[in-house]
Amino acid sequence: MKILVVGGAGYIGSICTELLLDEGHEAAVFDNLGEGHRRAVDSRAEFIEGDLADRGQIEVALSSVRPDAVMHFAASALVGESMRDPSKYFRNNISNGLNLLDAMVATQVGRFVFSSTCAIFGPPKRVPIDEAAPVLPINPYGESKLGFEKILRWYGEIHGLKFVSLRYFNAAGASENFGEDHRIETHLIPNVLKVALGQKPNAEIYGTDYETPDGTCVRDYIHIIDLARAHILALNMGRSEYYNLGTGGGSSVHEVIAACRKITGRKIDTVEKPRRFGDPPRLIASSDKIKRELGWKPQFQSLDRIIESAWKWHRKYPNGYED
Ligand code: UDP
Repeated sequence: MKILVVGGAGYIGSICTELLLDEGHEAAVFDNLGEGHRRAVDSRAEFIEGDLADRGQIEVALSSVRPDAVMHFAASALVGESMRDPSKYFRNNISNGLNLLDAMVATQVGRFVFSSTCAIFGPPKRVPIDEAAPVLPINPYGESKLGFEKILRWYGEIHGLKFVSLRYFNAAGASENFGEDHRIETHLIPNVLKVALGQKPNAEIYGTDYETPDGTCVRDYIHIIDLARAHILALNMGRSEYYNLGTGGGSSVHEVIAACRKITGRKIDTVEKPRRFGDPPRLIASSDKIKRELGWKPQFQSLDRIIESAWKWHRKYPNGYED
């Protein structure tokens, strides 16, 4: 198939593009390079620099590429930032996303794979979280993604759009060639690895008084390659669906730091900080539905394998894509 990867210069989009091409699909990348990096675009993919804020630019790109499907990764995705700047989240994730959907309707592209998030659920009553769990986001990031899922439903009903919404838990790790390089890094694993690389003095732990076994937040870290594979499986889906995507296991902040110490063999000092606004204590996925319906099977179940791949990439590219 031919896929337009919107946001394909970012962390998740770059690795999905690589996997699509490895599996014999054709891919073109549309990205404004606001968060993404030109060097993160696989050299086998056509690159179109453009911004979803401009409906004309995405419509021209769709008309020229004529893809069978669109994968949409171009969004703002930081919980903490969304609590300070909700407007950015509703504008980028809803209003700019609507430009993409309208351009798809205008150019008759009828398949869509959407990067959604477990942040749509808010603090769960029970874990693992399955697709039937109530959706009650506690930050504008989660709210913006939930809003877009609702919009998708109506584009499905009214325009016949077929979409698959993948609610990611915590994407982590790297492929051989592409990895996580955000201009301002807020994520746990890359920040801890920066300490191991000597680029930061200590790892910060946001909150040690949560109601979790060791007092720090628990997340379900999923290997980026497993996540990318789910997108490719979603291309074959004949109807619209929503899937939660994680491994079903949870690791606390303390456990992640301990695993980073073990894998890097480096000393990693820590400092305890207050809770980060908008963080639920415990998010763990039930991915039974995607396993059952799409035959998805994670290859990298262990946190160690995920961190090993990230460490390998960060050691190879200590300054990320700036190197
Ligand atoms: N976290 C932390 N120190 C950091 C970055 C994150 O303690 O330097 C915590 C954060 O509060 C959350 C977990 O680690 O509980 C995962 O955060 P991340 O930003 O990686 O992903 P999120 O769950 O927000 O998508």
